[in-house]
Amino acid sequence: MPNITVCRSYCSSSRLQRITEREDSGDQVSPKKLCSCSTPSSADKSPCCVVCEGQDCHNLHKVATDNVDSNLKSWAKTTKNFQLLGRLIAQAADTHAADTYYHLQCYTQLRNSAQAKKRKASAGPLEPHFNSIAIAQIVALVEDSEDSVFKVSALRQFYRTVMEDQGTPCSDTREPHSTRFKEYLLKLLPEWTDFSQGKNKNLSLVHLALIL
Ligand SMILES: [Zn+2]
Repeated sequence: MPNITVCRSYCSSSRLQRITEREDSGDQVSPKKLCSCSTPSSADKSPCCVVCEGQDCHNLHKVATDNVDSNLKSWAKTTKNFQLLGRLIAQAADTHAADTYYHLQCYTQLRNSAQAKKRKASAGPLEPHFNSIAIAQIVALVEDSEDSVFKVSALRQFYRTVMEDQGTPCSDTREPHSTRFKEYLLKLLPEWTDFSQGKNKNLSLVHLALIL
């Protein structure tokens, strides 16, 4: 239940008076309605935050630029906050609507959760770009070998050698990226897993038969 006392203290006195009158006359007014944005076209509404529809009617910033507006819409989509998206679209479509307001804190929180969502999404299905011929040769080497353990560093060296042989050497000795390279290979080698051993934490690919 929203805090009715806090909300009241922030709302304009005339509005509060109207509400009090209504309450006195027996009308039921839900506390949320006091500062709600749910009636954007009503002329007498107090401005409130489009993000939280919050009780704090102070410290509001006006959506003054298209940039802020498009950010809010884009972040609402990313975070799947469809109620907010609906409010933003309704507000834009309603020419009689008052300006849109937001709390800076709500704006920042929305941005942060949208960015977190995006980071999470991009860490998933996006495949790193490895050379398919070099990768195919490594997979064949590992699968056809009698060995059950391969050092990832050796496989990376092999990758670089194949790239050199093709006339497209890696530009950097850090290529291919160790972790991404290993993850990528493991997807292609379902019977293998990774394993680190020794003081130097030498990362290796190990056939599951060896550890199961
Ligand atoms: Zn807010």
